[in-house]
Amino acid sequence: MLKGKIAVVTGGTRGIGYAIVKKYLENGAKVVLFGSREETVEKALTSLKEENADWEVSGDYPNLKDAKAVEAAIEKVKEKYGRIDILVNNAGISDSKPVTDYTAEHFENIMQLNVSAIINAIMPAAKIMKEQGGGCIINTSSMVSLCGQPSGVAYPTSKSAVNGMTWSLARELGPSGIRVNAVAPGITKTDMVAALPEKMIQPLINAIPLRRVGEPEDVANAFLFLASDMAAYVTGEILSVDGAMRS
Ligand code: NAD
Repeated sequence: MLKGKIAVVTGGTRGIGYAIVKKYLENGAKVVLFGSREETVEKALTSLKEENADWEVSGDYPNLKDAKAVEAAIEKVKEKYGRIDILVNNAGISDSKPVTDYTAEHFENIMQLNVSAIINAIMPAAKIMKEQGGGCIINTSSMVSLCGQPSGVAYPTSKSAVNGMTWSLARELGPSGIRVNAVAPGITKTDMVAALPEKMIQPLINAIPLRRVGEPEDVANAFLFLASDMAAYVTGEILSVDGAMRS
């Protein structure tokens, strides 16, 4: 579904991002994954090469909060492949701190990675996509962007900002042939969720109409659809992949 396409995936070293990278490689894309550290990037690349030595995948680890570093990393991809067809902004951090324990720095840190880092990647990538006559941007939002959560207010705040960015840029960049969408996962079995004890997992499962937590692959399938030509007329969409848990 993505034969010959060039994709950049941030936060591609584990969890949902790793599943997206794998899904894109399985579908014929060439992928550059971004992670936060050299070791985790190398580990992910080794594991992907073990799965299939023919996959064309490489990695980088720019500081996503540093606009210049991200611009340089995006430019490097353009120099290597001559184009960028798909940008997935997936890196993110969650939060569960009560607001009474908040500091301004804590709030700012979450907004910087979950919101500013995305625009840092979109600014240079959108220029490249405009020059080449089109492209596709997909952001990772969250179920809680649509309904909030009982603590850790910065997280849903940041993800609602991601939705606003997605809707607005779909309108701004549509005339240049660039589609902009987001995927809003519900509870997904990444390291964080897999580490929860059974007694915490079961009540969560009972609140999900499909009666199971999501797998990273469930989410990656939505990213595949949105990146493919099957979604050629889909833009400005926040696609929920949450088993209808949102309330
Ligand atoms: P994860 O913690 O397993 O992976 C997060 C990724 O972000 C990692 O690849 C990590 O390298 C990257 N990252 C974190 N901090 C970084 C930093 N400072 N600089 C660069 N990269 C950084 O999490 P996940 O569950 O796979 O989450 C991926 C995305 O999905 C996030 O945006 C998260 O908010 C969103 N999400 C997850 C769930 C869930 O239940 N797991 C639900 C809704 C939304």
